Amino acid sequence: MFVRFNRNTCIGMFQCVEAWDAFVENKDAGKADLKGAEEVDSGVFELEVPETAELDAKFAARACPVDAIEVYDDDGEQMI
Ligand code: SF4
Repeated sequence: MFVRFNRNTCIGMFQCVEAWDAFVENKDAGKADLKGAEEVDSGVFELEVPETAELDAKFAARACPVDAIEVYDDDGEQMI
């Protein structure tokens, strides 16, 4: 499973930070940072989710009010 984080869309509400500790507040930018993620496009980041963090990642995606976080299974099918 992996997440795709569109930081361009992010408006810095930080619900994702509460849900999953891979997301951290970047107060200067007014946006979240996704630790260890790879930038696959301008402002778009992807990160493989460890099995132990799958629930937290899903909660983060559901918590985001602007749908900046998407969750995909290993086949690339969008789950959230
Ligand atoms: S919940 Fe969404 S809008 Fe808020 S900081 Fe996280 S990614 Fe950005």
